[in-house]
Order: sequence, then C-alpha cells, then structure tokens
Amino acid sequence: MSSPRFERVKRSNPRIAELLDQLGMYIQNQIQSGQTFVLPKLAGAALRLNDGEAFVLLEILATGGLLRRIYNLYCRKTGVLLATVDDPRQLDEIPHCDYCDEDHQLQDLKVELAFAPNDALFTKAA
Ligand SMILES: [Zn+2]
Repeated sequence: MSSPRFERVKRSNPRIAELLDQLGMYIQNQIQSGQTFVLPKLAGAALRLNDGEAFVLLEILATGGLLRRIYNLYCRKTGVLLATVDDPRQLDEIPHCDYCDEDHQLQDLKVELAFAPNDALFTKAA
C-alpha cells in the first residue's frame, strides 16, 4: 500500500512512519467498506490513540495532500446530516432542514470535523 504522496509524508515524518502506515491502512479499509470520510475519534479508537493524537496524524496526511479536511453539519434535533462543506466560511450557507422544515441557525447544528480521502491510495481497489 503506497503512493508517491504517502511516501513523501512518511519520509518527512520518519519517527511516526509506522503509525502513519497503520492509519493509512485504517483509512483504506474504511473507504473500501463504503465510508466517505474518517472521524478522528474513530481512527483514534482503532489505533489506540487519543482523539488529539489521531487528529494530528490526520492533519499530517491532510497537509501532505492525502486527505481533505471537511465539516459535516448535522441537525441537532434529528441528527440528520444536512451538508458537508470544505470551508468553515460556508457554515453561513446552512441548507434548509427538510426534517424540521426550518432554516436552522448555527447553534441548532452539530458541527463535526472529518477527513475525506484525496489520494488514489485510499480510493483504488487493493
Ligand atoms: Zn432540523
């Protein structure tokens, strides 16, 4: 399992290359089983890391161009995913919630930080 970008990230972070390999494998499995994004909390649980450590590793892959940081917007009342945006500035453009038939304000939403695959490493069949 590799790609030029992934090798570059591992070369610049030799002390955590093994962890990055484990994380890369985890992401690949998630995407191949139909997930469209990875959550730091779940990645951390899978790798026995805390949320902060998992977040930093995912950020390193995002900086290396392998992942894209995204924000999932959920209706707080119903838990329904309303939108996924790439840029926090888009949080202003919250779509109409069909479940509540309301235009929710930001405080009526749950915002979740996630990472979407951005490299053939994760999307190619193994
Ligand atoms: Zn709603």
